[in-house]
Amino acid sequence: MQRKTGLSTKANDETNQINPQSITPPIYQTAIFPYPTDKAPLVHGHPLRYSREDNPTVLALESVVKALETDDEKADSYAFSSGMAAISSLFFSRLKPGSTLLLSSEIYSLTLSLANNLANYGIKVKVTKGNQLIESVTSETGMVFAEVMSNPTLNVIDVPALAERCTRFNAFLALDNTFATPVNFRPLEKGAHASINSATKFLAGHNDVTAGTLVGFDINDVWNWRRMLGGALDPHAAYLVHRGIKTLKVRVEAEQATALKIAKELEGDKRVKRVLYPGLPSHPTHDVAKRILRGYGAVLSFEIKGGEREALKFMDELKIIKAAPSLGGTESLIMHPASAFGGSMSKEELKIAGISESLVRLSVGLEDADDLLWDIQQALDKVIKA
Ligand code: PLP
Repeated sequence: MQRKTGLSTKANDETNQINPQSITPPIYQTAIFPYPTDKAPLVHGHPLRYSREDNPTVLALESVVKALETDDEKADSYAFSSGMAAISSLFFSRLKPGSTLLLSSEIYSLTLSLANNLANYGIKVKVTKGNQLIESVTSETGMVFAEVMSNPTLNVIDVPALAERCTRFNAFLALDNTFATPVNFRPLEKGAHASINSATKFLAGHNDVTAGTLVGFDINDVWNWRRMLGGALDPHAAYLVHRGIKTLKVRVEAEQATALKIAKELEGDKRVKRVLYPGLPSHPTHDVAKRILRGYGAVLSFEIKGGEREALKFMDELKIIKAAPSLGGTESLIMHPASAFGGSMSKEELKIAGISESLVRLSVGLEDADDLLWDIQQALDKVIKA
């Protein structure tokens, strides 16, 4: 009988690694492999010889990430030293002088900076807001890049509509799936050509490693760009990401259940101006989120009454939630996008991206929901009178 295996079963399946003698992937802590030799195994179609090109521990991770993202054997999977290494390798591999790159304005600030810098190399870069992206795809467009769930406003892009438009105009669609994760959404099943994760976040999940992943079709040039740009993942880091992935589904499901609780509670609090969480009917893209996602993710953003001073004081008063510029780990983290992204985004760009001075972004971890709610309440009590 043909059965479809679930995501957690795939995440814990060790049958597709290079050394089947071990239940967990061995860490091949080596820069080099015997070469030349006719015994060198082929990895991504190339003989295994140098860890900037390939490494068996990294390959084991690439296999498991591929299984999470797609059931299509034709897809290629590459791991990188960071999410930015994945994104830059993809951009360099697919864009040439004269190509047009169309991006959503609601993406990670450094991705936007990278794209804007590519304009210096003859690439035409166009930026549009959220779902306006769909109508902006034309026969001129070479590549479209967006985040499935945007950072930090959590707008969910209508991927089926975007993919249909990209197919019509023959544009390559690359989606950053970091916030949604393969637990909630599989971009390649909905018509995207490439799915990217900053594995630093939910995939690794423990705030202890930086890494990136890319799975997709028509991306075999990426192998060469990864080795030229030098963004290969270290084998020890690959092991940590692989280990994190084994608990990805249970972590994300527990964290998003708590995120929904917090979002509902904050929406009823008079000291909070606005809560942005795609699981709330008040979110501008709730209907799209409901239609395309399995779950609404573990990140929410909210504006507290007042301005930057109040937002920063609120963060300072928190006792359990830590202020730090990341997300997706077991520890709950909070950050202030206006100051964190202010270095790489102009005031105008911040405004277009919907980032006000009092907005904070909360990544919900695995602490008990009641403790997190208590922490938020006690910090709000110190900053704003009800
Ligand atoms: N994509 C998103 C949505 C992000 O939030 C980030 C980093 O915060 C990145 C990509 C870049 O990933 P990394 O920090 O692993 O390079």
